[in-house]
Amino acid sequence: MAEKQHRMTRQRRIILETVKGLKTHPTADEVFGLVRKRLPRISLGTVYRNLDLLTEQGIIRKLDTAGQQKRFDGDISPHYHIKCVKCGKIDDLYFELPKPSSEWTANTSFQILEYNVELLGICPQCQKKMKQH
Ligand SMILES: [Zn+2]
Ligand SMILES: [Zn+2]
Repeated sequence: MAEKQHRMTRQRRIILETVKGLKTHPTADEVFGLVRKRLPRISLGTVYRNLDLLTEQGIIRKLDTAGQQKRFDGDISPHYHIKCVKCGKIDDLYFELPKPSSEWTANTSFQILEYNVELLGICPQCQKKMKQH
């Protein structure tokens, strides 16, 4: 691998700034669209590669949203997500979830490490639209 891990390239820095500057949990395509305004010659592949690298390094995080394009989050503090079932918008929720209890461990021979929670709902805009009909 020709790339140096410890030095951040200008491209990577701009990709990182873009993700950190967004609260919308953008897809790689959305990041590409914005980064291209500052780096017109960048390719989608480069954006993908850098997003994966930043994720591996724990600088940003990738959301596990089933059946959808991968989304990225510049906020790595512990929080959960709620997804609008109508338009797919994702918002942040900050609260503590209970630790796995003995009731859970009784149901599996696995050692439980963590669990992922994704809440589903209807965002304010979609609620408004529904009222108009
Ligand atoms: Zn919505
Ligand atoms: Zn988030």
